[in-house]
Amino acid sequence: MTAVTDSLPDLRAMTLADAEALAVASGWPRFRGEQVWRWVHDKGARGFDEMTNLNAATRESFAKVARIGCLEVAEVQTSKDGTRKLRLTTRDGASIESVLIPMGEHVTQCISSQVGCAVDCQFCATAKLGLKRNLDAGEIVDQVYLGRRLLAEADPTARISNIVYMGMGEPLHNYDNLVASLRILTDDKGAKLAHRRITVSTSGLVPKLEKLGNETDVRPNLAVSLNAPNDAVRDRIMPINRKWNIGKLLAALKAYPLEQRRRITFEYVLLAGVNDSLADAGQLAKLLRGFKCKVNIIPYNPHPEAEYERPSPAQVEAFQNECKRLGLSTYLRLPKGDDIDAACGQLANRSNGSPVVPLRVRKKAELPPPPPVE
Ligand code: SAH
Ligand code: SF4
Repeated sequence: MTAVTDSLPDLRAMTLADAEALAVASGWPRFRGEQVWRWVHDKGARGFDEMTNLNAATRESFAKVARIGCLEVAEVQTSKDGTRKLRLTTRDGASIESVLIPMGEHVTQCISSQVGCAVDCQFCATAKLGLKRNLDAGEIVDQVYLGRRLLAEADPTARISNIVYMGMGEPLHNYDNLVASLRILTDDKGAKLAHRRITVSTSGLVPKLEKLGNETDVRPNLAVSLNAPNDAVRDRIMPINRKWNIGKLLAALKAYPLEQRRRITFEYVLLAGVNDSLADAGQLAKLLRGFKCKVNIIPYNPHPEAEYERPSPAQVEAFQNECKRLGLSTYLRLPKGDDIDAACGQLANRSNGSPVVPLRVRKKAELPPPPPVE
């Protein structure tokens, strides 16, 4: 894994407390730290020269002790349905993705937490890249700031109302930067996002879920990629299940201190012939009976790097109806941006040099045995 090394600390990656501490350590009053931090995280400054209420001497002295990390917008793909997929590049030239998804009046932004991912889910384009490196907190939050900019350029009244950590990477594998990014995004002197408007999606790292539940100052919603109704199927498509199986995962989720009136979201990617039968729906409903949750059914987004198939619309409907009949609260998440590189990780993979294999659909029995887990 390569790390980005920079001599100066990055204001974009700092919480307000970090910036104040930096000001004090540099011999300036604490409020100076808040002033420059607010320029970056509230007003969206991308350089010290934009901090117009600070005199030149103050700006110059700050520029000697800190830098302002900035992602670059490398590519924007716009779908017919209005979904915009951004490929952003980091200082060391890696590509990551963020997606702006119109949802009625509002826009939800999907952000990445890592370059690549180590979890190796068999259906996922990001997995094919392996883990290149963690994003730092500045690289995580800058996706939101660039998303806001882009949206404002198109329509000054448009707002990003929800943030979901569902882009590239496993957020809980990058725990410290995840939590720092949540602190920055929810600070009412900074990006001012409500905790309930942010969702962290995880493949189910049980110890880190427990740790997140114990944080007192960050309270995001949780989405959990379940994707299978039993351990046999989940072991095969999500190798992480061999470390923390469904039983351990659900036990950790039951113990998770949910805010009042919130529910855990389970994501269930429907893969034809793998997890989409009515019997699978029955097992899923039984598994989640009595759980304060909802299930997002996501028909698989085909991409050249995995050999699965999306079930037919009739099969998707039958699966959802069976879940509903058995009392599960389900929502169908129809793929947005189908006409662009819509599958998670696909757009960035092209630029990060992931091998692209031609799409060939295999039947269930032909699927390879799952890879070993460390
Ligand atoms: N690593 C985290 C968050 C990123 S993945 C996680 O796994 O939860 C976000 C969601 O995209 C997950 O629910 C995953 O199951 C789903 N996903 C990945 N590849 C997909 C594909 N090709 N089609 C549909 N959903 C996919
Ligand atoms: Fe990683 Fe999530 Fe993709 Fe699994 S689905 S490989 S955890 S990004």
